[in-house]
Amino acid sequence: MLRINQLKLPVGHTDEELVNKVKKLLRCQETPEIVIVRRSIDARKKPELFFNYILNVTVRNQADVYRRCDKKQVQIYEETPYSFPFSNYEGKIRPIIIGTGPAGLFCGYMLAQAGFHPILLERGKAIENRSKDVQCFWEGGSLNPESNVQFGEGGAGTFSDGKLNTLVKDKYGRNRKVLSIFVEAGAPEEILYDHKPHIGTDILSKVIVKMRNDIINMGGEVRFNAKVTDFICNENHVTGVVVNEREILKTEYVVLAPGHSARDTFAMLYEKGIAMEAKPFAVGMRVEHPQELINLSQYGKSEEKILGSAPYKVTAQASCGRGVYSFCMCPGGYVVNASSEPGRLAVNGMSYSGRNSANANSAIIVSVTPEDYEGSGPLAGVEFQRRLEEKAFSIRNGAIPVERYGEYRKKIVTGQEFVYNKNKEKRIPDTFMPCIKGKWEFGPVHEILPGELGRAFVEGMEQFGHMIKGFDDDNVLLEGLESRTSSPVRIVRDEKLQSSMRGLYPCGEGAGYAGGITSAAMDGIKVAEMLAAHILEQEK
Ligand SMILES: Cc1cc2nc3c(=O)[nH]c(=O)nc-3n(C[C@H](O)[C@H](O)[C@H](O)COP(=O)(O)OP(=O)(O)OC[C@H]3O[C@@H](n4cnc5c(N)ncnc54)[C@H](O)[C@@H]3O)c2cc1C
Repeated sequence: MLRINQLKLPVGHTDEELVNKVKKLLRCQETPEIVIVRRSIDARKKPELFFNYILNVTVRNQADVYRRCDKKQVQIYEETPYSFPFSNYEGKIRPIIIGTGPAGLFCGYMLAQAGFHPILLERGKAIENRSKDVQCFWEGGSLNPESNVQFGEGGAGTFSDGKLNTLVKDKYGRNRKVLSIFVEAGAPEEILYDHKPHIGTDILSKVIVKMRNDIINMGGEVRFNAKVTDFICNENHVTGVVVNEREILKTEYVVLAPGHSARDTFAMLYEKGIAMEAKPFAVGMRVEHPQELINLSQYGKSEEKILGSAPYKVTAQASCGRGVYSFCMCPGGYVVNASSEPGRLAVNGMSYSGRNSANANSAIIVSVTPEDYEGSGPLAGVEFQRRLEEKAFSIRNGAIPVERYGEYRKKIVTGQEFVYNKNKEKRIPDTFMPCIKGKWEFGPVHEILPGELGRAFVEGMEQFGHMIKGFDDDNVLLEGLESRTSSPVRIVRDEKLQSSMRGLYPCGEGAGYAGGITSAAMDGIKVAEMLAAHILEQEK
């Protein structure tokens, strides 16, 4: 086939215009078979917006066509799709997978497809019941520490924006494999080629249920309300897991994909002497802007029907050297109460596939390192998070505290009270209100982050105000605290992807080897490959 790069067309073009542009470039009369490999947005001439395409094209007499066309834009191309290195396993060994987030789910899916009949154990509930618990909590009900935005079928990403882009380098094609499995399970085809693919929480929930049923139909088992509370080992090799402090399941192959919020599981691993270390991460606030303001900045117009709500990515360095950057940006989204422990408050962001709330939000976060954590030891970062979350919880007794940036900045920079100035020119009206899932109240968000972090946050916001007009407007809304940005610990694994306890395979974000849905899923596939190889080796 031929690969065409950098083929540009205005947003809103027809399929016919695409075909004609390809035919013109290849100087051929026949209608070629076209597969879109990548579609990205070119907004350099905004408000005139273009799509930039990478295409795979098949034509009958390719050699002639290739001889005639412009080689700068067209190459001969061979595709090597990803394939799992094992299949049709008939042995008796059943690996156990802890966690049904993207890492555990994709690890289980690949092993089930290869015939290993994995057992997936999830401390939380199946999506149907989990959604009820989350909705009830957002409407003011009590938090269920085992069934919430962090814990339950599909993991942390279920109630999310469902952004699927990742920066992880991928020479094996695992990234595309993850996206194609999502499409086979019902996600829209566009995720295979959109530069910034996303599916939204409404579609992601259905996709995860389909994958769960596929795993079961392929001979796997998925158990909910099944928390692994201990490991059994013999001569430093795992021989089984304890579920809910009573039931023992025997196996010598355990994938540990607990996610970044499984603090009790981290404590159990530490007590068992499994090698782990504290890891840097970042903390900050959710920041909300009117989506129109972001569209204007990114697209040059306040509304763009075809492209929908515009995303942004901003990054800066504070004078103290810390990085300040946007994270998990949710166009047309909601800020959500993503807490998982009573008396501690954490927020995050999500959106539905339509991305059609009036507000854009992202976490503006400041980098922290083990030097910032009180005390040392691998779990010091967890305690750092907990202290800040308790602070955030205490401000409005568990309701999400909201503060306007003008007040926040004044307090952090001068320590003085903010004086409202109705004549000051503002890009955002005083009536601008939050889009939040969960109880919220206006309150002193500026009290949450310790001194240097609070100042670095303001320095970052000021710099972003030069990149996106109105980004640091007085009426911008801040909500705290964004603390679960990645795992505060890493569970050490060797080149065979095993922990210091043999047979235990740390995996995904919680183990410190991924960040985000797709990279966690890719790590799940990587661990499945290694684990399958070890089982077959052992059975030789
Ligand atoms: C609200 C929100 C929005 C997000 N939005 C995005 C986004 O748009 N795009 C993106 O790429 N990333 C997003 N993320 C991050 C993404 O969800 C995570 O990076 C990803 O889910 C990590 O996958 P994982 O499988 O490693 O862990 P998780 O998804 O955290 O899954 C771990 C699972 O293990 C279970 N578990 C933990 N301990 C035990 C135990 N002892 N026994 C049994 N089960 C256990 C948990 O209940 C959980 O279901 C978001 C996260 C949140 C919270």
